[in-house]
Amino acid sequence: MAAINAPTSQTCPASVPPSVFTLPQTAQLEALYTIIRDKDTPRGDFLFYSDRIIRLLVEEGLNHLPVIPKTVQTPTGVTYEGVGFEGKICGVSILRAGEAMEAGLREVCRSVRIGKILIQRDEETAQPKLFYSKFPQDIASRYVLLLDPMLATGGSAIKAVEVLKEHGVPEERIIFINLISSPEGLRNFCAKFPQTRVITGWIDKGLNEKAYIIPGLGDFGERRYCE
Ligand code: URA
Repeated sequence: MAAINAPTSQTCPASVPPSVFTLPQTAQLEALYTIIRDKDTPRGDFLFYSDRIIRLLVEEGLNHLPVIPKTVQTPTGVTYEGVGFEGKICGVSILRAGEAMEAGLREVCRSVRIGKILIQRDEETAQPKLFYSKFPQDIASRYVLLLDPMLATGGSAIKAVEVLKEHGVPEERIIFINLISSPEGLRNFCAKFPQTRVITGWIDKGLNEKAYIIPGLGDFGERRYCE
């Protein structure tokens, strides 16, 4: 079979909201996604390759943080006028699948503070409901990297940003990071929070009747945690 070096994308829609940033859609990235989408990929490989993508996503998320001028002396005795990090960050994972992204964040940002939020569907109202949250006490003064691997309808992520805003985090200081998004989820989320940046690895075709992302990868938590 002939080699291809550009993605054969059967996915990405023509227009995405301006606050959405995808990873460079290279053939290498598509190869990683092809592995984690494959239903026959063993759990060990799923962990390894999804972790590789998570690392790329975290690095891309950090690219959106501000920097300030910083001057240093190099060992050659020369002054270098560069930049330094500005502001403190923290991660917030949407339980339970978002926890899978914490290690990737820690690998890149040593000793980063991490909060957690549990949102589930309220059986009576069918709306996303907050069940638990724990955040660093100074979260209002931090940039927040919100972690959830799959953006399907957007219900949980929208609720999570509402809760963060109630804790004093401005929406423009939140960066939402996920591996796969649906166009519907992006539309819903970005209509509600146009100033929150969304970093996604891939935008898929849509949702099925059970709100799974299509083509997607199935249930991320099950693929990651169950043998
Ligand atoms: N959550 C998942 O794990 N997979 C989907 O396709 C949608 C939501």
